[in-house]
Amino acid sequence: MSCLKVIKNNNQSLVCVATNGQMNLFVSEGNPHCLKALAALEATGVQCGFVSFSIFPERVVPFLSRPTLPALALPSGQYLFSSNAICRHTCLPALQQALHMAVLQGKSSEVSKVLQGPINVLEQSLSKRNAPYLTGVQYGLLCIFFFQCMFTCEHKSLKAWFDRVAAMNACQSAAQKVLQGKGLQGMKSYMQKQPAPQSSQCRETQPCNSNSAEVPEEGGERVVSEEEMEAAALTWSKGLNTCPPATKKQHPILPQEGKRNVLVTSALPYVNNVPHLGNIIGCVLSADVFSRYGHLRGWNMLFVCGTDEYGTATENKAREEGLTPQQICDKYHAVHSSIYKWFQIDFDYFGRTTTEKQTEIAQDIFWRLHERGFLIEDTVEQLRCENCQQFLADRFVEGICPHCSYPEARGDQCDKCGRLINAVDLREPQCKVCRQTPVIRSSKHLFLDLPKLESQLEQWLEKSTSTGDWTANAKQITRSWLRDGLKPRCITRDLQWGTPVPHADFKEKVFYVWFDAPIGYLSITANYTNEWEKWWKNPHQVELYNFMAKDNVPFHSVVFPCSLLGAQDNYTLVNHLIATEYLNYEDTKFSKSRGVGVFGDMAKDTGIPSDVWRFYLLYVRPEGQDSAFSWADMALKNNSELLNNLGNFINRAGMFVTKFFEGCVPVMELQEEDKKLLALVSWELQQYIQLMDKIKIRDALKHILNISRHGNQYIQVNEPWKKIKGGDSERQRAGTVTGVSVNIACLLSVMLSPYMPAVSQTIRDQLNAPPSCINTMLEGNGTFVCSLSAGHRIGAVSPLFQKLEADQIEALKKKFGGQQSAAVPAPAVAVEVGTVNQVDPEKAKQLTQAVAEQGEKVRALKAQKAEKAVITAEVAKLLDLKKQLALAEGKNPEPAPQKGKKK
Ligand SMILES: [Zn+2]
Ligand SMILES: [Zn+2]
Repeated sequence: MSCLKVIKNNNQSLVCVATNGQMNLFVSEGNPHCLKALAALEATGVQCGFVSFSIFPERVVPFLSRPTLPALALPSGQYLFSSNAICRHTCLPALQQALHMAVLQGKSSEVSKVLQGPINVLEQSLSKRNAPYLTGVQYGLLCIFFFQCMFTCEHKSLKAWFDRVAAMNACQSAAQKVLQGKGLQGMKSYMQKQPAPQSSQCRETQPCNSNSAEVPEEGGERVVSEEEMEAAALTWSKGLNTCPPATKKQHPILPQEGKRNVLVTSALPYVNNVPHLGNIIGCVLSADVFSRYGHLRGWNMLFVCGTDEYGTATENKAREEGLTPQQICDKYHAVHSSIYKWFQIDFDYFGRTTTEKQTEIAQDIFWRLHERGFLIEDTVEQLRCENCQQFLADRFVEGICPHCSYPEARGDQCDKCGRLINAVDLREPQCKVCRQTPVIRSSKHLFLDLPKLESQLEQWLEKSTSTGDWTANAKQITRSWLRDGLKPRCITRDLQWGTPVPHADFKEKVFYVWFDAPIGYLSITANYTNEWEKWWKNPHQVELYNFMAKDNVPFHSVVFPCSLLGAQDNYTLVNHLIATEYLNYEDTKFSKSRGVGVFGDMAKDTGIPSDVWRFYLLYVRPEGQDSAFSWADMALKNNSELLNNLGNFINRAGMFVTKFFEGCVPVMELQEEDKKLLALVSWELQQYIQLMDKIKIRDALKHILNISRHGNQYIQVNEPWKKIKGGDSERQRAGTVTGVSVNIACLLSVMLSPYMPAVSQTIRDQLNAPPSCINTMLEGNGTFVCSLSAGHRIGAVSPLFQKLEADQIEALKKKFGGQQSAAVPAPAVAVEVGTVNQVDPEKAKQLTQAVAEQGEKVRALKAQKAEKAVITAEVAKLLDLKKQLALAEGKNPEPAPQKGKKK
């Protein structure tokens, strides 16, 4: 029936390709709307160019602010979003709710209640006609729509019909492609990312009978009921007085009785790296937005973070820069602080881990674990460099992979074959610092007995993940760690730069960073207030949110909770674990050594304001899936969403007050149309709050932009600039439209404040808004009230955003694109230790040629899958040639990271 072919690629997106036709259909895995669209397409045999299962729906339709799939791109360049016009007049909202209940809440039994209305219609239709299909003998699109519907419930009388439709080729094929053979559960992960459907009574029970109601599937304008309009108008008229007063921050911030006490942490950035944009959005920026939002909600928030400063990497960086480890930490702690300050990250306290409190608290936890029998001793074989006089951390050893003979395998993993390696198993190991051959030494270490804590951990996890908001990736990564059972984990290291192990038998050792670093959250809080235990030993009063990138999940969900559970001191454990996916840079990864990507300290040199950076990073926040930073897209979003949509609306609203009403908010007399807008805005506000409460930061932002879109449309339709020149009633109308608009602008400033704090403040200054206007989000669902009443005098209005020009963006793209232009700071090159040799350019030239040839030879052998021994021998020759070349170039004979070569 169909000429569609499905190709699965590695990141869960699917691409379907066909050879004929010019239309393109975009669908996504697990999305029930797509099931219908795809089935309809296949059933009708409409010719379509290709069907793409997209993971970046926004990319599909460049001008949409919300991902809208399915989408059909027509040859004319236009897009269709309505997967089926039938849905508009039937029971989509009820179906959505039914799907939500069945898939996400597991309440299959209640589904038939919700779908009672449509099912009755369906039954009658089938029995009246006594026909196998809904529209008679032939199946029709209606059947296909209800087919989607019937995935939800098993209503006996309809079972035969469902089976008949389900047996159709088109439906089977569509179900297989979209649901991956997983039936209803195939929709789960898609639906978890969607806002919960509204469950208002009228939409549940009377879905089918209104011809006038236009129910959009996604993206379009929402239908507003009379009741909603009246309710919105009533709320609006109450004004600001109904809002409870805001409370000022105390110092120190401590948990309060009767309040929601929220402790927010961001993963501690490692001190010797300058954070890149991916680090910033993954941890500190996301946590900052949530913390600011919590203040709007009237929660009692404490937000702490700091630099993670101990470990081998710091020691080596110190050697490289000729400083002491403490000096390195001081230097980079200041670098981090200033970057976060520029990004307006509003920590209540930004500390560090190299403090006395850290030693005190880490040693206390250690002794408690020791006393309770959760630590065990064992002997470990380790590599030690006698030249550098230190045991080598895994990443400071390099050698030949014992599995695949790759010559540059690291001490923990091989980049070629991906297998985990025990550093002592590397062939021809080298110290990465001095290139000497390390020796194997055995050393006694302490291990945290994770197997002994496993059942306790699982009990706690069960409770925390079911009652708290854990992102899907956090749950999944945690499950995969537990699946194979836990093993004891070494908590000590043979280093100097760390928290000393207080036990007499381990005097020479320090705590391993994974054990030590998370304790930093506690010690940083302890440096903020002596009463830190009120936050950290108070699980009944405090809710803990941990923000991080996904690679940090196991340490926060398994290892650190085990330390705290074993220490048995009533610690506050994480309730909500928020992990982002990865942010890529254009089509590649951020790489400091290759000079690719924007790093925290460079963002301010671009001339683009910090608020715009924040906006764009949050707009592409890798929430639920990897995403990418793109200069072109940043310019597009700035120019379309900030400048033309949001900024334009707020500026026009303010300008009308200034120009037509001498700076004073005019009298407003609400008509139907105004009430409808108020209802729409209230609904968007509610969506925003529901999403933000669940830390769907990226999704919530789209609702802010929806409001200004509604506002622009409202102004466009009502044309106050024309009406102001008309008669009394027209002038009155211009006044109402202006007054309502400027109040929406005020609401927008509040909703924006977690995302763009400076712009938010500028708007409120321009509107001369009363400080209490920020209280609008204190109540349960938020309330949109008239906060700038008639007669209120606003301030001077000016544009909020600037256009990003194409040439400006091109220049920036070039500068940060990893082209190694002069503007990019030279990548850090490993320090040269030992003798520097005589330079011999002629010999170097010959050797360069020889290295290239030998490299080719090795690659060819590998491609032919030649015998291991043969390859190993040739690799050895290659390495030798490289060493000679390095000597001839006057370098230390080791392949130090070179420009553009190593990752
Ligand atoms: Zn390997
Ligand atoms: Zn060494």
